[in-house]
Amino acid sequence: MAVFCGAAHGSDPYLQAAAATGRILAEHDIHLLYGGGCLGLMGAVADAALNAGGQVTGIIPGFLQSLGVAHGDLTDLRMVLDMATRKQHLVEEADALIALPGGFGTLDELAHVWSGNALGLCPPRPLGLLNTHGFYSPLIAFVRTAADCGFLAHHGHLPLEDLLLTDDDPAQLIRTLLARVPAAPAAEEDLTPAA
Ligand code: AMP
Repeated sequence: MAVFCGAAHGSDPYLQAAAATGRILAEHDIHLLYGGGCLGLMGAVADAALNAGGQVTGIIPGFLQSLGVAHGDLTDLRMVLDMATRKQHLVEEADALIALPGGFGTLDELAHVWSGNALGLCPPRPLGLLNTHGFYSPLIAFVRTAADCGFLAHHGHLPLEDLLLTDDDPAQLIRTLLARVPAAPAAEEDLTPAA
């Protein structure tokens, strides 16, 4: 499961929510995929998952790694060319995505998934917003307004309630997302004739 979140700490409840998310993912043996940073909520979610024995993969652009903000203790840290390539990897390699509170970077990642889904450019993935202390309520209101005003008409194939999977409880949000992950295709039968 991929997590988008702030590279800043934000205030207390957000840091705690990020740590809870990382811990819950690890406790359920869910591999965490994220932007590979060591700062803010990014560092908190990764540290909590690692401390609980989880697997954590970071995907970071070279320019951020050279600024020294990559996490040094991940299960796996991969360097990519740029931010766009990172977004593409995070979306393609995850079976579901969570946006924790964050700033412009998180908003950019969220919008990438929403608009990519609308145009069929992103593989369809359930995306959930962790609405800690109502952090995402203004964005949810914006999406509802955009829908009411007819600006999401081309999202016709995706009902609004599927676009807006939100919860303030990380465990419940993770359950909701897992329930929407399409089942993996069944393993191909071995058609080799018996000797
Ligand atoms: P923001 O929400 O503006 O703090 O940006 C966080 C998101 O943008 C993360 O999910 C990252 O993918 C990316 N990002 C922004 N700043 C950094 C950073 N210093 N280190 C790693 N990733 C970052």
